[in-house]
Amino acid sequence: MNDLAYFKSNSSAEAIAQVAADEQSRFIGGGTNIIDLIKYNLFFPSSLVDINGLKKEIITKTDDGILIDAFAKNADLAYHQTIEDQYPLLSKAILAGASPQIRNMATNGGNLLQRTRCYYFYDANTPCNKREPGSGCSALNGYNRNMAILGTTEHCIAVFPSDMCVALAALNASVHIAGPNGNRILQFADFHRLPGDTPHLDNNLQHGELIIGIELPNRGFNKYYSYLKLRDRNSYAFALVSVATALEIERDAITEARIALGGVAHKPWRIGEAEAFLKGKSPTRANFSLAADIILEGAKGYGFNDFKIGLAKKAIIRNCMMALDPSSQLPGAQPSL
Ligand SMILES: Cc1cc2nc3c(=O)[nH]c(=O)nc-3n(C[C@H](O)[C@H](O)[C@H](O)COP(=O)(O)OP(=O)(O)OC[C@H]3O[C@@H](n4cnc5c(N)ncnc54)[C@H](O)[C@@H]3O)c2cc1C
Ligand code: SF4
Repeated sequence: MNDLAYFKSNSSAEAIAQVAADEQSRFIGGGTNIIDLIKYNLFFPSSLVDINGLKKEIITKTDDGILIDAFAKNADLAYHQTIEDQYPLLSKAILAGASPQIRNMATNGGNLLQRTRCYYFYDANTPCNKREPGSGCSALNGYNRNMAILGTTEHCIAVFPSDMCVALAALNASVHIAGPNGNRILQFADFHRLPGDTPHLDNNLQHGELIIGIELPNRGFNKYYSYLKLRDRNSYAFALVSVATALEIERDAITEARIALGGVAHKPWRIGEAEAFLKGKSPTRANFSLAADIILEGAKGYGFNDFKIGLAKKAIIRNCMMALDPSSQLPGAQPSL
């Protein structure tokens, strides 16, 4: 039996001070990931600091967009009228994730910090550089069907499993952080890390730092958008490949293109060169196919996951075509009435 202290915090400052003071202390939001990690004996926190008491309005208006409350639940965000109307790509992506029960518990901040679902990471009896730096990567020559094809190193080929974050990447979100040394804002592209030779670090948050909000710029892409999640089962399964597409089109020319991929890398994957290529072009299958080639440049399979390269290419093309008519998106969890 492991001793574990539990505190319920009512202010950010108090929560930050409690976690920052102890390397083995952690925040707990919905607990849908951290409790699993404890149950699997993957780490042993000395204390959990509950931050659910910090909940505010789900959404507040800012000068340039909206600020999403980090402590609000995934389901409340996905079904918020502003999100459904102005940022439907985000709503669709959240509703493609997990199950209704989990979305009712999981918080928006916690979603950014969930850990990989690599089988070997969860099996404490196998070598894993993410769990124990320097021990080796069992997935490299193991059963790597779910693993990454982009941005990998020999140190780690795990993928980051979030759906919500793929949409946040496409929408140019930024992350508002409070910490023991003050507040800061990180652009979404700079939040998560590639494995490099430090695969144990998933993101650039420091110990004791608390995500307090996620900001979205005004541009929500509610006319041409689509989220496609390809997986082994139609619900309650992580993505093999997912794609968030957001387009702006004027007189048959693309004026803005955003394409972010999930399930293929250690972080949501976006390639500016492909988006720039589409600018000024007609929204045709042929042009989307050329953009997909650019996105997948350098993709590398590890045996069991070789199929993901072709799958990702087809998923990008299909999702861009569906974005032209969002009502053609594959059915997922339904929006509120
Ligand atoms: C069976 C199952 C299936 C799932 N399927 C999917 C899926 O298909 N797609 C998908 O995207 N997700 C899926 N999930 C993951 C789920 O979405 C995440 O577990 C959830 O979003 C995490 O949020 P939480 O609030 O429960 O985090 P917690 O478990 O409470 O915390 C996770 C981590 O974040 C830290 N933390 C939490 N909040 C903050 C904060 N505000 N600031 C700083 N640190 C914080 C905690 O200390 C901890 O390290 C699934 C989960 C399960 C169990
Ligand atoms: S892919 Fe990463 S998480 Fe999986 S075993 Fe290798 S080092 Fe560990």
